[in-house]
Amino acid sequence: MTSFKSFVPPQRILMGPGPSDVSQRVLDAMAKPTIGHLDPIFISMMDEIKTLLQYAFQTKNDLTFAVSAPGMAGMECCFANLVEPDDKVIIAKNGFFGERMKENVERFGGIPIVVDDVWGTKVDLNKIEDALNHHNDVKIVASVHAETSTGALTDPKSITKLAHDHGCLSIVDTVTGLAGVPLNVDEWEIDAIYSGTQKCLSASPGLSPISFSDKAKEKIMSRKSKVKSWFLDLNLIMSYWEGDGARSYHHTAPINALYGLHEALLILKEEGLENSWKRHLDNHLILRSGLEKLNIEFLVNEMDRLPQLNTIFIPDGVNDLKSRQRLINEFNLEIGAGLGVLAGKVWRIGLMGQSSNKKNIEHCLNSLAEVI
Ligand SMILES: *Cc1c(COP(=O)(O)O)cnc(C)c1O
Repeated sequence: MTSFKSFVPPQRILMGPGPSDVSQRVLDAMAKPTIGHLDPIFISMMDEIKTLLQYAFQTKNDLTFAVSAPGMAGMECCFANLVEPDDKVIIAKNGFFGERMKENVERFGGIPIVVDDVWGTKVDLNKIEDALNHHNDVKIVASVHAETSTGALTDPKSITKLAHDHGCLSIVDTVTGLAGVPLNVDEWEIDAIYSGTQKCLSASPGLSPISFSDKAKEKIMSRKSKVKSWFLDLNLIMSYWEGDGARSYHHTAPINALYGLHEALLILKEEGLENSWKRHLDNHLILRSGLEKLNIEFLVNEMDRLPQLNTIFIPDGVNDLKSRQRLINEFNLEIGAGLGVLAGKVWRIGLMGQSSNKKNIEHCLNSLAEVI
């Protein structure tokens, strides 16, 4: 019989589309003793997480918390709660995650109206406006702030404005955006927004920060039909994250993962949100000039690039899989492969959160120069 031993993961450098490097400080926080999730001390930490998330999102929304599951659950939570049967939802699709939004709308009984843009470009506002003019009684417009599958940055502020002008709510995916590029939920009047912990926040995966405006909250509380997911029904979750003092049991929170998120948010607060945005941009520019020296080209045009996710064309004659295997085996470096229509054509280099630093950039450029 095989004798099993404790698992010892290698020390990798994570420069893919997530997870990003998790700092020792966050890992240490997660190694602290597990306490009860209804322990008053734990509840006060949850309250702090809420306040810190409000800071990260730049919102005063009361309904701001972390869903106890990864980014995809945040997406599902928004659609499950805001879509009622036969609701029309416009989806601005310019990559992989827009496709998943469509799936969500269908599964919750809504009618998706997909507005397509070419992968690698940002969402075209004119097309969204046309769709809004063309279809009456659309209820929601959904878009992806930072398309991790392509590295394109979209403008959720303008999309939200269009949505509101047509009496719709706006749902925004900022799983990769949060803490990496400017975002101001209240100023931009976004109604529902979700993120992830393992991208620019550099906490461990498995939680989804989420926030809802009062308007979204009203819609959820006045639904005609029950939310079709028990676990994600915000009417039930609200009493767990919101009830002051007397919280009722909904599910057991991932206690140690929340310690990690708390610490990661504290690190963000210490650095300052604007400084974090600036660091991501500055490091992107350093990586960019290094890649240009290697004659490597970007997929996305300069104006619309995400600093935290750099999608580059694989140089001619270079083997995709073999090169990435060499990067991981010889250089301990993880970068991302192309997704969907871009599979085999591009690589995705993440500069997210803790991974966004000069040492990583140098290591990445040197390693790439070896394998190509
Ligand atoms: C990573 C990602 C998700 C999904 O997050 P998971 O934590 O993997 O479930 C959703 N949307 C975007 C844009 C992402 O980058």
